[in-house]
Amino acid sequence: MIDSEMRVDVNAVDWMEVLPFYIQDAKMLSGRWGACPFCSGEDTFRIVWRRKSDGNTGWYCAKCGTGGNPVAVIHEVTGKPYGEIYYELREKRYNQGKAPTTFHPVVSARSEMSPEQKRKILRATWDRGVSITEDSPVWKYLSRRVPGLKIEWLGPDVRYHPGLSFKSHDGKDEGKFPVFLQRLVGAGDKVARTLQRCYLTPDGEKVPFLNGKGKSAAKKQMSSPDGPAGGSTRLNNAVSRTLALTEGAETGYAVVAKFENRIEVRSLLDCGNLARADIDWSNYDRVIIFADRDREQERRGVSGNGSTTGATKVRPGEFHAGILAKQLQAIGKRVTVIASVVEGVDFCDIWSLQYARRAEVSASRARVKSRSGRSGTSKELQGGNSQLSSLRAQGGGYSTPGQTVAA
Ligand SMILES: [Zn+2]
Repeated sequence: MIDSEMRVDVNAVDWMEVLPFYIQDAKMLSGRWGACPFCSGEDTFRIVWRRKSDGNTGWYCAKCGTGGNPVAVIHEVTGKPYGEIYYELREKRYNQGKAPTTFHPVVSARSEMSPEQKRKILRATWDRGVSITEDSPVWKYLSRRVPGLKIEWLGPDVRYHPGLSFKSHDGKDEGKFPVFLQRLVGAGDKVARTLQRCYLTPDGEKVPFLNGKGKSAAKKQMSSPDGPAGGSTRLNNAVSRTLALTEGAETGYAVVAKFENRIEVRSLLDCGNLARADIDWSNYDRVIIFADRDREQERRGVSGNGSTTGATKVRPGEFHAGILAKQLQAIGKRVTVIASVVEGVDFCDIWSLQYARRAEVSASRARVKSRSGRSGTSKELQGGNSQLSSLRAQGGGYSTPGQTVAA
């Protein structure tokens, strides 16, 4: 891939001619502001056909703060591997005669609705939600994903909706499904800035529908006037001066289970929203940020008019966690950023492994004890001081060096 990449001069490509071979979307191809393929920005992304600085074609998103050359956009929209795209560019066999992929934004554009209409739908959807009970598909889903989680720990911003319509990316109505609702609330707000929906089957599995790129379409953010705007979901009911932040709710619940509900945990959907977290920080002394490890992306110091100030490679999860960490340190908080060392592996995966290992250890101890006729409680199961040190020691896949901004 690197090999083929090096033999293609992406700036020599006539992107105005080539991009339509891959992507079908009048707004994006016009170079006007529109939905971002990389995040939930509804009107924050644009293709810049001729950048002022160098005349090359690039793109920029004001929400996720990324930018680069159009190859990443093709990869994101079509799902085509980078190696294949570079091969086609080099051989000038653009998309090899296949029809271009229709671009489906992360958040379906509902621009025909007024902000007030959007707010009304958000309110009505949340109001129809009920608390999560043991027999609900939401609890089946959560308890399977997060071993050791207890239902009495669930917080005020999660609910179970018995049936919301699922519309597939090509507009097909797939029927109604149970939904795990997460409300994102800003500091001082009483109502949701937006709602995250996770569509489930009655058995508590994610619905099997895929998006245009062949990835799971089970999670959908609702359209709202300002997007999540830093809103966060209080996942559990613990009250503590330590606050843990995660991107996804599943990762957040793994943290709740790991700390046995002794610290407050909030999720913020994605790293861009995490970086602008709008939380009343006076309630906390210490903040632990769990950063997802994403694929590297190019980041340019690009302004809206398309001028560039050089490019660097960043992992969005860690990059945005770092932005928030600096802001929090500046107001005197103790901040720890915990980053996975394995790409695509988040703390939820790590926790499942840790939990299985603990169960194994305590089972083998029990066997030894029953043979020797002694009794007693397993230290493993007490898990009393499961602090960060044990996270590092047991995690295998998680570490803090370099990412730890302050302890
Ligand atoms: Zn974006």
